[in-house]
Amino acid sequence: MNKALLFAAALMTFQAAAQTTDPSQKQPSGNHPPASAGDDVRGYNDTPQLPGQPWKVHDMNRPRARKVTPGAYVEEAPPSDAMVLFDGKDLSQWVQMRSGQPQEPKWKVENGYMEIVPHTGRMVTKQKFGDCQLHVEWMVPNGVTGQGQGRGNSGVELMMRYEIQVLESHDNLTYADGAAGAMYGAWPPLVNPARPQGEWNVYDILFEAPRFEGDKLVKPAYFTVLFNGVMVHNHQAQLGTTIWRQVAKYTPHSPEEPLSLQDHSQPVRYRNIWIRKLTGYDQP
Ligand code: MG
Repeated sequence: MNKALLFAAALMTFQAAAQTTDPSQKQPSGNHPPASAGDDVRGYNDTPQLPGQPWKVHDMNRPRARKVTPGAYVEEAPPSDAMVLFDGKDLSQWVQMRSGQPQEPKWKVENGYMEIVPHTGRMVTKQKFGDCQLHVEWMVPNGVTGQGQGRGNSGVELMMRYEIQVLESHDNLTYADGAAGAMYGAWPPLVNPARPQGEWNVYDILFEAPRFEGDKLVKPAYFTVLFNGVMVHNHQAQLGTTIWRQVAKYTPHSPEEPLSLQDHSQPVRYRNIWIRKLTGYDQP
């Protein structure tokens, strides 16, 4: 492809990314329910019923996942066919969006990690992905205060839409489907193997992208997730685009979309991010 075409293609990618719903932007600040309906620590009692489950979205009566102490952190290098999205040195694989245009990322890079600079916006990969294996390490630094959804909130957003929650969840209560490792707003992690604040956590995510025929969903997205080496989702279907206090639903999109890391106005760190596109048997 010549340079002009390459540029046009890149611009289209970024414009498409800019139009994608950012779950973090779907939390209306002036639209909180009355205290009697709950909060981000206790959960809620006024939210809609989750289809196929006996619980409401962010249900205050839903049991929190039981705690599991994971094994010790082991540093793991990416396999040879992985695309390294962040090696601790630079953000060359990422952009941030400003008024629909890709900009140099504003997140901080130091000591081998990137750290959210609150309110600069989420980080978006330049490349797009569908079915994939994704490795991400994250930490809520010491000194971050707050409670419930207000303590180390970020998120790994597959296709910029389907969030695996990042949150301080070792010693921080919130509703079950909002804890670290949750398929946010629908499925809590099966157990809670979160490490304490100030320690690195590891997500190994196997993701199957949803399939659409025209406007029709023909197969939902599926998540299988290991959290610090402990399974927290086993091929669980995603309900739709992640959203706060509502039942998620699908909006058709391309077979491949960028990966994003959520800016939820709190300083969370990331490192050692790599991805492999998944293929079937007997394919190169
Ligand atoms: Mg989040």
